Amino acid sequence: MHFLSADFIFDGQQFLPNHTVLSVQEDGVIVDIQTQTTHQEVQHYRGLLMPGFINAHCHLELSHLKNCIPERTGLVDFLLGINQFRNNFSDEQKQRAIQDAEQMMLVNGIVAVGDISNGLDSLEQKKKGRLAYHTFVECVGLKEENAMERVEMSKQISATFALSHPSSIVLHAPYSVSSAMMELVNAGSENKISSIHNQECDAENELFISGTGDFLKLFLAILNDTYFFTHTGKTSITSYLEKLNVAAQIILVHNTVTTSADIDFANTLDKKLFWCVCPNANVYIENKLPNIPLMMEKGCKIVLGTDSLASNHALDILAEIKTIQKHFPSIAIEQILSWATIHAAQALGMENEIGSLAIGKKPGMIQIEKYTTGQPFAEDATVKRIY
Ligand SMILES: [Zn+2]
Repeated sequence: MHFLSADFIFDGQQFLPNHTVLSVQEDGVIVDIQTQTTHQEVQHYRGLLMPGFINAHCHLELSHLKNCIPERTGLVDFLLGINQFRNNFSDEQKQRAIQDAEQMMLVNGIVAVGDISNGLDSLEQKKKGRLAYHTFVECVGLKEENAMERVEMSKQISATFALSHPSSIVLHAPYSVSSAMMELVNAGSENKISSIHNQECDAENELFISGTGDFLKLFLAILNDTYFFTHTGKTSITSYLEKLNVAAQIILVHNTVTTSADIDFANTLDKKLFWCVCPNANVYIENKLPNIPLMMEKGCKIVLGTDSLASNHALDILAEIKTIQKHFPSIAIEQILSWATIHAAQALGMENEIGSLAIGKKPGMIQIEKYTTGQPFAEDATVKRIY
């Protein structure tokens, strides 16, 4: 048994009183939390102790695309870049990149990941059980006639992942799936955790509102054909969210251009939603951040993601937090840390095991030495894993 104290202890929701001592088994399970202790052998940590970070949105299978795609080109050119480069690598290169990316997450104090996968490239690494995963098997495809086949293939992939950890099938984005695919994936999400890329750029809303804009270029390049998108006259989220009506909960990813009216609409639907922000990926792709203070004001449950190494320089939740603090310095640190821990655990259905310092949980434990109360994290603050 180990007895731990620190200058500051954050439990996933709040800072614990001074002099709190955590009793932790060798394997990392918390067995007691006391404010007074008679134990002599308490080990004191400088700075902040907290549960391990949870990355609610990643694409491990794209790790080999690190530094491949230019920054700040906008989403459409970014997606065209992914399409152009993703198969230019050997299986060995892809596997090595996946291993390195996972190791980077481990070193950066991440204990669990919501990971988007199209295929089985990341399976072998995930099976090693070094991190906890929920794999979201992603369906993409605009041709109505191919929907059934594509969804069946994704179901098989998801069933293979599910032999080692939780998995569900999800839609890539509202603009990249046919209506048949949306119906089939929705039908297969009953009581499951779902996820979708939402409102990542203005062009997405333009496509839904007027059927015009940059996305037509994407369709032409990918489908090699003229494609007539049936626009709705409404923003993206107000066009599709009602149709996702059987999932237990949905992680909406990015929300870079989501407005007050969009959130009000989503809140009227009485769904269990998690709003995932990936600040460094947004800066990489669009050089724009979501309106996080607005989300907070509207009561959105926020979680944090890194997105993939195709659109980020690191898989590092602390780096995402630093970016948020730089742009929105008035947001309380407790709020941001809860997004990266207990909220994200709830988003991935892992709140009974990780995400907070609670008796019986094995949440991982990390130290951030360079932390001073009331101050944003120092630029050079880093994470050290304790468990
Ligand atoms: Zn993504």
